[in-house]
Amino acid sequence: MPGGAEFDDIRDLFRPLTRGAGEALGLTDDVAVIRGRPGFDLVISTDTIVEGVHALLNTSPADLAFKLAGVSLSDLAAKGAVPDGAFLNVAWPFDWTADDRKMFAAALGEALGQHGVRLFGGDTVRTPGPFQAGLTVLGWCPTGGAVLRSGARAGDVLFVTGSIGDGWLGLSAAKGEGAFPGDDRAALVSRYLRPTPRFAFSGIVRDLCSAAVDISDGLIADIGHVASASSVGIELDLAAVPLSSEAQRWLAQQKDEAQARLSLATGGDDYEIACTAPQAAQAELLSRAARLGLRLTCIGAVSSKAGVTIDFQGRKLTADRWGWSHLDH
Ligand code: ADP
Ligand code: MG
Repeated sequence: MPGGAEFDDIRDLFRPLTRGAGEALGLTDDVAVIRGRPGFDLVISTDTIVEGVHALLNTSPADLAFKLAGVSLSDLAAKGAVPDGAFLNVAWPFDWTADDRKMFAAALGEALGQHGVRLFGGDTVRTPGPFQAGLTVLGWCPTGGAVLRSGARAGDVLFVTGSIGDGWLGLSAAKGEGAFPGDDRAALVSRYLRPTPRFAFSGIVRDLCSAAVDISDGLIADIGHVASASSVGIELDLAAVPLSSEAQRWLAQQKDEAQARLSLATGGDDYEIACTAPQAAQAELLSRAARLGLRLTCIGAVSSKAGVTIDFQGRKLTADRWGWSHLDH
């Protein structure tokens, strides 16, 4: 949509984000041209965020940009892909000022640039509604090497990166709900607003994992996606699910520890990676993560019995692929 103002936006706001990528043709042509890389697969994912749906209304332009980049790139990180380029489809609200647009573009450039991602193209429109944007991200994996949801095998071990539940706590903190000590509230809100795609783990995932998924819907739902795609079962040790110190402080205030841990494990917006690996790879997986200073925790095992089974201190909860149902005592 090449109106005058849109054209200026493309030149002034978005061309710097190409970082001179030849693929983008200076954002002056109808297309981008990506040269194939022999021996590599192009791995592609796309995500859309709508203000008021995937982000709270009145989220700042910079936070919207970091959220969009984080959630989109997280998918590539989970596949073990090396990120390369992106396409942005943005709908500017009529009431966004030139400064708002500038802040969004600058923050997007920062969020993408942290991972070496260059803007290859996109589309720009205006909308009477709230902000929305889609980001299509491209990365590369050695041919056949993308780590899919479907590769888990009975006997594999289940791991998760980082800590779980902060995104969900951060959302309630951002909405002003709950009682959090001041510093915890700020840390959790920022975790929710600006997810970090875990590219630091991509090499480990690529080299050692049989299946992987990034956690957007909630740990339990997303490992359920791995279980069904792989036609296996997963046994989750709920007590082993790693928590941040903020989440631990929140947990200590809750009456029912099992339910509280379940809430953290179903809340979503973590953008960590859950992955499976053969038992024989476990020691190397953990030592590589430790050498890189990365938190990686064993949280369960893959079995041949379909579905997700949750164990908490000997109590069992059975979940279907959409989430969990109830605690059996
Ligand atoms: P067309 O009308 O042929 O689709 P546009 O005028 O929409 O072309 O786009 C011109 C150029 O600007 C293209 O290279 C396109 O990829 C780029 N572009 C437009 N909007 C964006 C955007 N939001 N982000 C990145 N590149 C964009
Ligand atoms: Mg065109």
